[in-house]
Amino acid sequence: MSSAIPTVDDLRAAIRNVPDFPKPGIQFKDITPVLGDPRLFSAAIDLLTANWSAGSVDAVAGVDARGFIFAAAAALKLNAAFVPIRKQGKLPWKTLEESYELEYGSSTLAIHADAVKPGDRVLLVDDLLATGGTALAAARLIQRLEATVVEAAFLIELEFLKGREKLTGLPLHSVVTY
Ligand code: AMP
Repeated sequence: MSSAIPTVDDLRAAIRNVPDFPKPGIQFKDITPVLGDPRLFSAAIDLLTANWSAGSVDAVAGVDARGFIFAAAAALKLNAAFVPIRKQGKLPWKTLEESYELEYGSSTLAIHADAVKPGDRVLLVDDLLATGGTALAAARLIQRLEATVVEAAFLIELEFLKGREKLTGLPLHSVVTY
């Protein structure tokens, strides 16, 4: 990599594909090489938040757990609140919950009932869009609190899994696509 600002292709080159993790048939996209290089991590946050400037959103919501890493950095950059959307049973106060289907079984996400206010403009962030079930459940939690998801932004989109089709009506932004 040169001394120029890292590009989408630099990020693509850094993301490590790990076959058969965590189970046979899954091509896991390992983002730790991006996190391990501050220039790449910084470029990832800039590209992830390309459509937004400081003060243009009230909150950035991140999905447990890798989404937290990108959403927290994006929230600081945009001078916005950081909102964690966690797996069921982790948030200590009053929560709303939303269940969704996985390939095998189901999972539940939760948000604190006071995490966002009615009318808030929320940028939803996760590391990766696959089938879209996770992002849809997270968006519903925000919408049930009467806030607006202004965009769902992902560092990585696996286009062949067609998660976009599940997220109709939500503005979507992804940085590195496969
Ligand atoms: P989905 O609900 O199918 O869109 O899955 C998205 C969530 O699962 C994200 O929070 C990702 O962190 C994780 N995920 C799904 N597939 C992969 C993959 N191939 N590599 C890394 N993470 C993945």
